[in-house]
Amino acid sequence: MAEYSALSIVKNALTGNRDWKPAWRKPEPKPAYDVIIIGGGGHGLSTAFYLASEFGIRNVAVLEKGWVGSGNIGRNTTIVRSNYLLPGNTPFYEHSMKLWENLSHELNYNVMFSQRGIINLFHTPAQEDDHARRGNAMILQGVDARFVRPPELKRRVPALNLSGSSRFPVLGGLEQPRAGTARHDAVAWGYARGADRRGVDIIENCEVTGFVREGDQVTGVETSRGRIHARKVAAAVAGSTSRVMALAGIDRLPIESHVLQAFVTESVKPCLDTVVTYGGGHLYISQSDKGSLVFGGDIDGYNSYAQRGNLPIVEDVMSEVLELFPAFAKLRLLRSWGGIMDMSMDGSPIIAKGPLPGLYLNAGWCYGGFKATPASGWCFAHTIARDEPHEFNAPFTLDRFHRGYVIDEKGQGATPWKH
Ligand SMILES: Cc1cc2nc3c(=O)[nH]c(=O)nc-3n(C[C@H](O)[C@H](O)[C@H](O)COP(=O)(O)OP(=O)(O)OC[C@H]3O[C@@H](n4cnc5c(N)ncnc54)[C@H](O)[C@@H]3O)c2cc1C
Repeated sequence: MAEYSALSIVKNALTGNRDWKPAWRKPEPKPAYDVIIIGGGGHGLSTAFYLASEFGIRNVAVLEKGWVGSGNIGRNTTIVRSNYLLPGNTPFYEHSMKLWENLSHELNYNVMFSQRGIINLFHTPAQEDDHARRGNAMILQGVDARFVRPPELKRRVPALNLSGSSRFPVLGGLEQPRAGTARHDAVAWGYARGADRRGVDIIENCEVTGFVREGDQVTGVETSRGRIHARKVAAAVAGSTSRVMALAGIDRLPIESHVLQAFVTESVKPCLDTVVTYGGGHLYISQSDKGSLVFGGDIDGYNSYAQRGNLPIVEDVMSEVLELFPAFAKLRLLRSWGGIMDMSMDGSPIIAKGPLPGLYLNAGWCYGGFKATPASGWCFAHTIARDEPHEFNAPFTLDRFHRGYVIDEKGQGATPWKH
C-alpha cells in the first residue's frame, strides 16, 4: 500500500484522484489465527497494530460486528489529556500522551492531534485546593500542569462568563497545556490501515456469537461468519463487555453499561481554541476544526445497551453550556448521538490476562477511553504477546476488585455513574 505524503496528494490531484486505494483490505476470515481480537474500535485496532509493529505478531484478526468506527471510537468528544492524580493512572495516561505526540508519523496518517490544552475550571475554594493537589501531583510525576487565573481566562477564553453573576462563579482553572483533541474517526482509520499494512485481517460485519472452549481453555470463537480458531482471544468491546463475556460464561463483572451523549452545533468562526471543563456541574466543550462546538456532560441516569440518549440529559447539558457561555444561546444544535460506556466500579480500566485461560480482557473505559487508545493497545498487545502485563497496566487487573486494590481516581467508591 502506498505511503501517504504531500507528493502523493499532488500526484493524485493531477490525475483526477483516481488512484487512491482502499485504506484496508476486506479479507475473508481464515480458519485459524494466532490472535483474535473481538471489537474493531479504537482499542481493538490499536492492539492489533502494536501486536504487529512492536511484537512481530501478524497472524491476527480483528472481528468487528459492524464497521470500523461504528462504536465509541467514532462517537466521542475527542478530548485527549493525561491530567490524572493517582500513581496507578498517571504513568499509563502519560505514556498514551507521548504516543499521541508521534501518532500521525507512526501511522503515516494524519489523526489531527491538536495540543490546544485543557482548562478544568474551579468554582469554590475547596475545588481550588483539590485542583492544586492534582496539579502538584501531576508535576511531581513529570506531567505538565499550571494554574490559570481569571484575568488570563478572560484573555484566552473571551466567551466565558466571568461576570461573577453566574450560579457558580469561576475562580480559575487548572490547565494541562499538552492536552487537546484528535479527529476520532481518523484514529480508527489510521490504526486500521496501519494494522492492515502489517498483515492483520480486519473483518467487518463479523459478530462474535460464542466461544470455542476445551474445558476452561478458550480456543476460538463462533461468529456470524463461522467458527474461527485462535491460540489467544482478546476482547476489546467497550460497552458490550458484559454481553460478550457472558458468551464465555463470565456473567459477573465490575462493569455497568450506560449511555453517554455528545452534541455538536452548527459551524461558526473560531471562538474557543482550548478545551474547557465546568466544575460546577459536568461539561466538557471544545471547537472542532470545522467550527462546530463539540460537547458532552453526564451519562444518562440508567443502565442501557441502546446507542441513543434521552431528553432530560439534553436539557441538563444545554443549561451548563449556557451557564458558562451565555453567547452560545444563539447557536443551533446540529446533531446529538449516544454511545455505550463500559463504566467500571472505580473509574479505572481493566487490561489483563484472563478471566479464562486463552482469554484477555480490555474494558472499563468509562468517560475516558479515547485518550487511552494508543497506550491501551500498546499495553494490551504487550500483555497478549508476553503473557504478563507491562508495568504501565500492571495495576489494571480484574481481581483488584476482589482484593480491594481499587484505583479510585475520584474517590467516589463503587458509583460508576460518577466516574
Ligand atoms: C459521547 C461520548 C463521548 C466521549 N468522549 C470522550 C472524550 O472526550 N475523551 C475520551 O478519552 N473518551 C471519550 N469517550 C470514551 C471513549 O470513546 C471510549 O472509552 C472508547 O472509545 C472505548 O473503546 P473503543 O474505541 O475500543 O470502543 P468502541 O469503538 O465502542 O469499540 C468496541 C467495538 O466492539 C464491537 N463489538 C461489540 N460486540 C461485538 C461482538 N459480539 N462481536 C464483534 N464486535 C463486537 C462494537 O461494534 C464496537 O465497534 C466518549 C464516549 C462517548 C460515547
